[in-house]
Amino acid sequence: MITILVVEDEPEIARLLRSYLEREGYAVVLARDGEAALRALEETSPDLVVLDLMLPRLDGWQVIRAIRETSRVPVIMLTARDGLEDKVAGLELGADDYVTKPFSPREVVARVRAVLRRNRWGGREEARFGDLSINYLSREVWREDEPITLTPTEWKLLEVLSAHPGQVFTRAQLIERIYGHSYEGLERTIDAHVKNLRQKIEPDPKEPRYVLTVHGVGYKFARQPDDG
Ligand code: CA
Repeated sequence: MITILVVEDEPEIARLLRSYLEREGYAVVLARDGEAALRALEETSPDLVVLDLMLPRLDGWQVIRAIRETSRVPVIMLTARDGLEDKVAGLELGADDYVTKPFSPREVVARVRAVLRRNRWGGREEARFGDLSINYLSREVWREDEPITLTPTEWKLLEVLSAHPGQVFTRAQLIERIYGHSYEGLERTIDAHVKNLRQKIEPDPKEPRYVLTVHGVGYKFARQPDDG
């Protein structure tokens, strides 16, 4: 399930955005200020952030700057109509797009959809990591040019992890991404799927090169020297 973090201190706008985005099938997490936004970012690993620039505590620019220190998650800014300089500053700090207030929620939903499409799988349809090649559209995986057959769960796991190299996912987050809802008590089943995936893609499953364990937290896909 795709998760959108909406950072907006005006409850009425936040509520409206939430209801429109949920109607589109997205999971929505709300944060009311910049500090809460950064906490939510860490806890939920959203697929996209809708960020109001005028916020209490940390303002939107500080939030974008902090996000970009650790993450390439797409960010759509909500800006004032006459805030041309705001838009330029936000885009230069690494925001992906902006919507001008007052906006129609439909416009925000359309923009979310477009930015997600552009950024899916880190903005690429194929990726090569060392001797591993992944085609996200055809769902084909090769190691040293040998095709690898994955189960749907193993594919999903590889898709989620490899689309965000270096980003740590907890077991609960992986279950949410794979099954679309949290599966309480079954977090350890992820370990079994990781083990099977490693058997198939790792040159040496005992010394994983791609799917790395982050002790006490979860898993991440290793950044590769040729990860473009
Ligand atoms: Ca505001």
